[in-house]
Amino acid sequence: MTRFADIEILHYKVPGFETLPLRTKLYIYHLAEAALWGRDILWDQNGRYNLQIRHLLESILPKTDNEDFWTYMRQVWFANGIHHHYSTDKFQPQFSEEWLRQYTDDETLISVIMNPEVMPKRVCQSGDDLIKGSASNYYGEGITQQQAEEFYNRMKASDPNPDQAPSYGMNSRLELNTDGTLQENVYRIGGLYGAAIKRICGELEQARDFAESEQQKKVIDMLLEFYHTGDLTTFDQYTIEWVKETEGIVDFINGFTETYGDPLGLKASWEGYVNYRDAEATKRADLLSANAQWFEDHSPVDERFKKKECKGVSARVVNAAILGGDLYPSSAIGINLPNSNWVRAAHGSKSVTIGNLTAAYEEAAKGSGFREEFVIDRKTVESMNRYSAVTDDLHTDLHECLGHGSGQLLPGVDQDALGVYGATIEEARADLFGLYYIADHKMTELGLTPDDQAWRAQYYGYMMNGAMAQLVRIKRGRVIEEAHMRNRSLIAHWCLEQARYCGECFGTKPAMELVRREGKTYLLINDYITLRQYVGQLLAEIQRIKSEGDFLAAKTLVEKYAINIDDKLHEEMLSRYETLHLSPYKGFVNPVYTLVKDEKGNVTDVKVSYDEEFDEQQLRYSRQYATL
Ligand code: ZN
Repeated sequence: MTRFADIEILHYKVPGFETLPLRTKLYIYHLAEAALWGRDILWDQNGRYNLQIRHLLESILPKTDNEDFWTYMRQVWFANGIHHHYSTDKFQPQFSEEWLRQYTDDETLISVIMNPEVMPKRVCQSGDDLIKGSASNYYGEGITQQQAEEFYNRMKASDPNPDQAPSYGMNSRLELNTDGTLQENVYRIGGLYGAAIKRICGELEQARDFAESEQQKKVIDMLLEFYHTGDLTTFDQYTIEWVKETEGIVDFINGFTETYGDPLGLKASWEGYVNYRDAEATKRADLLSANAQWFEDHSPVDERFKKKECKGVSARVVNAAILGGDLYPSSAIGINLPNSNWVRAAHGSKSVTIGNLTAAYEEAAKGSGFREEFVIDRKTVESMNRYSAVTDDLHTDLHECLGHGSGQLLPGVDQDALGVYGATIEEARADLFGLYYIADHKMTELGLTPDDQAWRAQYYGYMMNGAMAQLVRIKRGRVIEEAHMRNRSLIAHWCLEQARYCGECFGTKPAMELVRREGKTYLLINDYITLRQYVGQLLAEIQRIKSEGDFLAAKTLVEKYAINIDDKLHEEMLSRYETLHLSPYKGFVNPVYTLVKDEKGNVTDVKVSYDEEFDEQQLRYSRQYATL
């Protein structure tokens, strides 16, 4: 196992890959190659010196066994650049500048690596000029935030069809010309990153021969066209065809996708991944979707806010076959695309839960000692070890297939009415929907949980996480920033307060409380049934806020329960976590796929192996997929 700094590297398995037909294996193989060829694009997007620094570091590597250097090297590999993948803070090497000078005299690189004041943050979220404050490489040197905003506002204002406007700026770097004008340098064949995109297209063309259907070929054709032209209208057309394609076993993402890396939220980082359907788990998601209307009708939400006609989202549980670009080595476990609002409204979206990655996380959690340290008693630990693999996946399914798709806005309510609080409220809504129903007898009736006790393990794990355990991922002195973490905090703390209040009113034990045992804080759930009622109440309120666009109520809830951290509790969590010697962030090594050929050179099989370790894989990728 590889572990360094705050990172632990896991292997994930590709169950059932061996039994797929050869044709399907080859389709996956070429799509996987296409997902790996874009690696250098992301490195360059993450910062203008990243590729140069990687080359420098990898050239020093064979000449040293300096531990501090190796840690830095691995951090940089993991983050696809010199800034932390999650906090986006620049890594500060533990080796000295003098030590580095033995290997290079490039003053720019030395200063970018060593000087904490140079490019301190990859994505800057506050300050006078977010572009100037960010090291990410989406805007040319000298461009100000105001210039960029004016440039794109003009572009949007002159769109002939604003209801179907493309995602302007998504696939380019904005450059400053010598005469002071601005110009987009578009990512495409013959344009910026053309050398990498050409290799991606080469593999996509080979994959096309093994596609499972005409629709899949059409999807690939449109993506190829987009990579050739960089035309954003073509990109929207491509995503529409991609949404329609739901029949195949294999699916993939390959392109400029998420905009978290751009402080203005316009420019998309490159990612690639391939998945194939997990037959057993898909049945589960289909079962939920088929019953979507039942869930909507029985939810504790006010009738006015319910959908009269409810379709489950096209969701499925898949296994990742490869992770690339911004999904490697750190990956999401659920993905819902496309991101274009008008495409989603008009054509829907596709949503997946990545089963083999959650399985790898669950496996790592079981043996880690984490539950033994933070869970209140052995009985609860055993119940979590027994049920969590099932209930975690089920909660994710409920969240993705039903939660986000449930409810409706009242007529005239703007979908962005909740502003900066919108993301947290939306995630809370989906999580609460899942929590409410995972405790319903309907789950055992549908065969989705083994018995009527299983949900308690999910409640305990969820509330423990939201009330205290997730704090181990946050640095001392900071607040909670990320929307999913905020939503968990909101739900847990709201329920804690509700429990305290009801307990005082009725003179009974609170349904849930934080208690001290032998100098440590634990979550104690006294009454699961009542706790579920609180979940129902909060779901009703959150849906009301969403449906009415009640900005003030959203602001009050989020600011009161979701953001702030009790510093004493935080300190305790961090020090208890420290004693476990675990890593708060995890990522993956990809499996290795090899073509098996007979004497005549015909491909007879695709073999998968798991024995490549993190360092080896990074070095091989740097050799094999170097394009920029
Ligand atoms: Zn969600």
